[in-house]
Amino acid sequence: MLNEVIELDKKYYMNIFGDRLPVCFTHGSGMRLFADNGREYYDFLGGIAVNALGHGHPAFIAALKNQLDKVIHTSSLYYIENQAKLAQKLVENSCADKVMFCNSGAEANEGAMKLAKIYFYKRGSERYEIITLKSSFHGRTLATVAATGQPKYQAPYKPLLPGVKQVEPNDINAVKAAAGDKTAAVMIETIQGESGVHPMSAEYLRELRNFCTENGILLIFDEVQTGMGRTGKLFSSDYFGVYPDIFTSAKALGGGVPIGAVCAAEEVAAAFEPGDHGTTFGGNPFAAAAGLAVFDIFEREGLVENARKMGEFFMERLEAVREKFPDKVKEIRGAGLLIGIELAPETAKRVSAKMFEDGLLVSLCGGTTIRIAPPLIISKNDINMFAAELATALKSV
Ligand SMILES: *Cc1c(COP(=O)(O)O)cnc(C)c1O
Repeated sequence: MLNEVIELDKKYYMNIFGDRLPVCFTHGSGMRLFADNGREYYDFLGGIAVNALGHGHPAFIAALKNQLDKVIHTSSLYYIENQAKLAQKLVENSCADKVMFCNSGAEANEGAMKLAKIYFYKRGSERYEIITLKSSFHGRTLATVAATGQPKYQAPYKPLLPGVKQVEPNDINAVKAAAGDKTAAVMIETIQGESGVHPMSAEYLRELRNFCTENGILLIFDEVQTGMGRTGKLFSSDYFGVYPDIFTSAKALGGGVPIGAVCAAEEVAAAFEPGDHGTTFGGNPFAAAAGLAVFDIFEREGLVENARKMGEFFMERLEAVREKFPDKVKEIRGAGLLIGIELAPETAKRVSAKMFEDGLLVSLCGGTTIRIAPPLIISKNDINMFAAELATALKSV
């Protein structure tokens, strides 16, 4: 089947992903994915921080099937029970007071940027600029590309959305120097994911919070990757103890079903009035059922707490590997189950290729960092297996 799929893909699909890894998965169970060639793989990437429940979680599948039998989509012209209840879940478990749903991380960030702008517009203020960080990643729409501080993603799409600029991460003075009386918001990832798992320091986040508060600037956390239990807390704002005015969620929020969310403090959220923003699919009965099932299973199985414990265990095991290969492993970074293993430049590609060969799924990001973002159901056995395999891979390259 794989060769046939590759042929179809090359012929009919736009070439935005280049040569993908040569595998085609047909089904999954827990931490494992099964390929059409009969091989099994251990998924330490979780669909890039999406499959928090692993694959084929029985209660999750049952909830989805149950909703499919009822209704999939009705439109925002009518009240939607699952949508209202999922909003309640998010509010009751985060710093937000109000929520709106969309369909992806980029769309959530785009919504957050719109909310920051309209918040000042409605107050008759001229603040419209948004400061983001270099080496950030906020999505692929035109506004979020303007926010994403990586020239390679921006260059082809100039001129970009005006009023969006990037400063050095983890440097409060850089923000202070860039901010002015036109600044509406600062939008950041608390842990930069796509560029190689780079956490902001807690001190930087506290200073940033204070600076924004003192200067009437909104603070936006892009929690698309760091949210939904990834750091061992439901949102990374709880991990760092620093709270934004607006935050976004997506990726794991629907456990694999596309859904995103813009979440905000009451006063900020109130800027959106009827007609100011909208969506066709966002938080439809099916997508919201997926989100509700994710929350339900998180609670019943204690998965956020498991992420915290397993994250600590993972770190210990990886540090032990690093000690054995001090020349090859430069640094291990992250929080909870979002971990980056930075390797010497030549080593990283070969190690990730070797792990794939041996049936372990990870991603190479920022050129030299192996990113791990496994399902939150992960166990110590899985982690021991990963550590052993990493050591084998490091020895072999
Ligand atoms: C993945 C990601 C996005 C983009 O999400 P999409 O669903 O691909 O649009 C935005 N921000 C962060 C931090 C991400 O990790």
